[in-house]
Amino acid sequence: MNKILEIKNLNLGFNTESGFRQALWDVSLSLDKGEMHALVGESGCGKTISAMSVLRLLPKNALIKSGEILYNGEDVLKFDKTRLSTLRGAKIALIPQDPMTSLNPLYTVGNQLLEVIKIHQGLSGNAAYEKAIEALKTVQIPSAEERFNSYPHEFSGGMKQRAIIAMALACHAEILIADEPTTALDVTIQAQIMKLLQKIKTETGVSILLITHDLALVSENADFISVMYAGRVVESAPAKEFFLNPQHPYSLALLKSIPSNRGAKLETIHGQPPSIYQEITGCRFHPRCEYCMDKCIREIPELMLINENHSAACWLKL
Ligand code: SF4
Repeated sequence: MNKILEIKNLNLGFNTESGFRQALWDVSLSLDKGEMHALVGESGCGKTISAMSVLRLLPKNALIKSGEILYNGEDVLKFDKTRLSTLRGAKIALIPQDPMTSLNPLYTVGNQLLEVIKIHQGLSGNAAYEKAIEALKTVQIPSAEERFNSYPHEFSGGMKQRAIIAMALACHAEILIADEPTTALDVTIQAQIMKLLQKIKTETGVSILLITHDLALVSENADFISVMYAGRVVESAPAKEFFLNPQHPYSLALLKSIPSNRGAKLETIHGQPPSIYQEITGCRFHPRCEYCMDKCIREIPELMLINENHSAACWLKL
C-alpha cells in the first residue's frame, strides 16, 4: 500500500511560564491509503496534539522543534496559508469528539452540506442537493430528504457525528482524522459509528487516523495500531499482530484493563502518566512499569523493529 501520510521524528513542545516544555519526542507513524490506523493512549499522552500537528491546528504557544509531516510526500510544515486551507477540510477532514464544534447551530444540516459541496465540488442547485442527499444516505441517516431540513439540535449525538462524516465525504477528503469520535456516545451508538467508519473506508478507500483511549473499540476495526505513552510512541504493529503478540509492558497493561477480556481479572495501571512539567529520565514508563530495571531509569529505549512492521521501545526487547 502507498503511504498517504507520514509523521517523522516529530518533536514538539509548549512555551510556558516556566519555560519550554517538551510534549512529543520523536513521534513517527504512517498511514497507508485505505487504512485505519489507531493512535491509542491515555488522556494527555500526546495523541491529539500529534494529529492536530498534521492540520497545523495547534495552540499558539506550541512549537514544533523538528520533524516532518509528509502528505503524499510533501512536508505540510512547509505549506503556506493557501495550501494549508486547501488541505484542511478538502484533503484532510477532522471528525471531532464533540460534533457541535463543527456544526453551526443556526443553519440546517442540509444547508451546511450544500455549502461544503459548493466550495469543494463547485456544484450548485439540484446537482448539489443530489450530492448532499447521497452523502446523508452514505452515512445511513434515515429519511435523508426530511433530515436535510433539520437543525443540528434536532439530531441525536450519533446522527450529528454521521452528519460531520457526510460533510467530510462531500469534500472528497482523502484522510479522516477522527479524534475520539465516539467518546460522547453510548456503547451501542459507538459500535454503529465504528461500523460506519469501517464501511466508508472499504467503499471509498478513505484513510482514517483514529485517535482513541479505548483499545477495545479498535480491536475489530483498526488495521494498524500505534500506542503512545507520555509523548512517545512505545509500540506500533498491524492490529492482528498487536492483539496476538503485544510487546511493550504499557501495551500489555492497557490490554489487561479492557473490560471485555471475559473471565480475566480486570487490572488497572497503577500511578498516573506524567505531566509535561515532570522531568523523567530514561524510559518514560519506568515509574509505572513492573519490569523496570536500572538501565530503564538511566537510558531512553528507542523504537526498534521486533519483526516485520512491529516495533517497540523497551529495553526488555532490545
Ligand atoms: Fe519497563 Fe524498562 Fe521496558 Fe520501560 S524499558 S517499559 S521501564 S522494562
